[in-house]
Amino acid sequence: MTKSYALTVAEMDQLFAKLSERYAIYAPTRLHNGGRYALDDTILYKEVTKYSDIEWKQRSIFSMKEVLTPLSQTLFYFTEDEFKEAKVKDERDILIFGRACDLNSVKIQDQIFLENGGEEDYFYKRLREKAHFALMQCDEQFDGCFCCSLGTNVTDLHDLGVAFAEDGAKIQLTSDLFAQYFTENDETLFEVSFPEENDLKVDFPHIETQEEYRRLQVHPMWDEYDKRCIACGKCTIACNTCTCFTTTDIFYGENANVGERRRGCASCMIEGFDTMAGDHCFRKSVKERYRFKILHKVYAHDVRFHTGPMCTGCGRCDADCPELISYSATLEKINNALVEIRQDIKEGVPFNV
Ligand code: SF4
Ligand code: SF4
Repeated sequence: MTKSYALTVAEMDQLFAKLSERYAIYAPTRLHNGGRYALDDTILYKEVTKYSDIEWKQRSIFSMKEVLTPLSQTLFYFTEDEFKEAKVKDERDILIFGRACDLNSVKIQDQIFLENGGEEDYFYKRLREKAHFALMQCDEQFDGCFCCSLGTNVTDLHDLGVAFAEDGAKIQLTSDLFAQYFTENDETLFEVSFPEENDLKVDFPHIETQEEYRRLQVHPMWDEYDKRCIACGKCTIACNTCTCFTTTDIFYGENANVGERRRGCASCMIEGFDTMAGDHCFRKSVKERYRFKILHKVYAHDVRFHTGPMCTGCGRCDADCPELISYSATLEKINNALVEIRQDIKEGVPFNV
């Protein structure tokens, strides 16, 4: 089915009130003075209850992944001889507003948490099964977006497509799921649109062989990031496809057998993330960590899932790096390095690592 409606702000508020009985609604919201500097705002996902709660004019700084993989969550509580699963606090289903790139990131998160090595992540699955999506139409593009270069400018994951305006919203129903909420509204002509072209066009690199990959790993292009990147992890926390987490046992008192296990968002960019027993660390330098992050997105994810990059071109990492390191410029440098590498392979230049 596909029916469309035009709702005023007051009608949107009534809709949200009715939806909130059954759904926890999450959308980008503006947090005043919550940004990097004292008077900067930030935009992040929170539960909303009315239309004006939603910040729809700007891209959120943090992505919607925080709804399905919270920054910190208790997985279970334990005592000496038993454990108890932590409940999902809200029994309602979940409705998440996101842009096409964000909705496409859910498909990548699903691969990582549900299709990785034959095991499903139980705690991701129990939230994911409750989740439904509303597409936020992009009427303008933001700095660093390149979804059209990756085909992530379109999606079919949504049940509602929404175009926002000051005086209300136009909504297209793309399934029957929410039809019961619109029986008293008059239909209108509206079809949600997708971005067709970005100012930024990215030729996403394709590494074709293991030898290209190995040579790229030791290419000097990575050296500059030892000095430029401060390994703050902001790019990965904001990224809608990065999924690194860590688990911590919290003990309630002197008895080390009673407490809870928590999972928290983490970053492969931060020193110590890959430290193992015996203090062995796989990636000691910043450039090694930056290279790992980038090549996971460009190469390793595709090697495992055969579905292309672990990236939807949302542009958040480009826009929010405090050191102005551009991910899209890094991709261009990889393309240039691959030209050199392919020439070396053709000429039989030896490679010993
Ligand atoms: S690339 Fe930028 S945002 Fe990412 S860790 Fe380095 S300095 Fe931080
Ligand atoms: S790598 Fe950058 S552009 Fe790609 S999904 Fe992550 S934040 Fe968005």
